[in-house]
Amino acid sequence: MYVNGFSTSLPEETQYKALTRVPGFEHAKMFRPGYAIEYDYFPPTQLKLTLETKLVENLYFAGQINGTTGYEEAGSQGLMAGINAHNKIHNIKPFILKRSEAYIGVLIDDLINKGTDEPYRMFTSRAEFRILLRQDNADLRLTEKGYDLGLASEERLKNVVEKKQHVEKLIRELNEKKLRPAIVNDKLPQFNTTPLKEGTSVKKLILRPEIGLNEVRQLSEDVNKYLAEYDREILEQAEIQIKYETYIDKEHQLAIKMESLDLKKIDTDFDYDIIKALSAESREKLKSIRPLNLGQASRISGVNPADISVLMVYLNK
Ligand SMILES: Cc1cc2nc3c(=O)[nH]c(=O)nc-3n(C[C@H](O)[C@H](O)[C@H](O)COP(=O)(O)OP(=O)(O)OC[C@H]3O[C@@H](n4cnc5c(N)ncnc54)[C@H](O)[C@@H]3O)c2cc1C
Repeated sequence: MYVNGFSTSLPEETQYKALTRVPGFEHAKMFRPGYAIEYDYFPPTQLKLTLETKLVENLYFAGQINGTTGYEEAGSQGLMAGINAHNKIHNIKPFILKRSEAYIGVLIDDLINKGTDEPYRMFTSRAEFRILLRQDNADLRLTEKGYDLGLASEERLKNVVEKKQHVEKLIRELNEKKLRPAIVNDKLPQFNTTPLKEGTSVKKLILRPEIGLNEVRQLSEDVNKYLAEYDREILEQAEIQIKYETYIDKEHQLAIKMESLDLKKIDTDFDYDIIKALSAESREKLKSIRPLNLGQASRISGVNPADISVLMVYLNK
């Protein structure tokens, strides 16, 4: 059993006492005490989105030195710092992943804008666009980018492009395929769902919480035969995209709206002192982090929405 949050950096005797207070562990035996690792870090607010340090040109930081902990956190930052260092010396534009494109985007954006007072771990709860950042669509989101960087092979790209086309075709055809009440109504009650009043597309039927592609296969032999031509991965992706279409679209629109703030550039030598309406805390944070755009400014902790509105009015002048 992993006792989350149970501190193991205390003296051995204290650890043992604490352990026996956990319900069920009253008579537990402790074979070996836990321990803690202490380490230092540089405040990551001193970095650019590329993970290059603002103060020392061409010096990139990744991993524990930025206040994160964990293999994936270190590995993903190392990858991004490496790509960007390579791009910089070859005069290629920076490679930055957005918060709506990848967890790496959330991680780096959080680090450089919010900083961290304790070891940072990449929890899914830190991402605001969780419906877009799904594990099932990681290949669709990122393979093309990997290919453009020379990291993903042509074959991998081809597979993903084909998968995308097949999913689109399948969704289109499921929208066209109609199921007639006479064929399916006697089978619908077994899935605890109401009978059809008129011919309904398979796509529309899948929107019902009780019905998925598996159920549809049992409803119609015709559709079953048609679906048998597709790989499991394509069926799964089509089903997810159909079922969650409204939510995915909504989040996508929100991401676009938020990203428009990222297009409002702020000069790095912008004089925040001339805007008298800014709160003292926001002014200090903005002066120390020097965000490159309004979106980045809005994600700095301590900079409140009212100050962003003031800044927006000023930048629009
Ligand atoms: C006991 C333990 C258990 C852990 N368990 C987990 C776990 O289960 N899951 C998880 O996700 N994370 C775990 N972590 C955390 C994870 O290991 C670290 O967060 C991660 O390895 C940090 O990677 P890094 O590359 O930033 O730093 P490091 O892996 O520490 O790499 C830094 C490197 O720099 C080298 N170096 C230092 N100074 C110099 C110098 N002056 N010149 C040249 N090289 C130098 C060091 O030798 C080292 O190789 C654990 C850590 C510890 C200590």
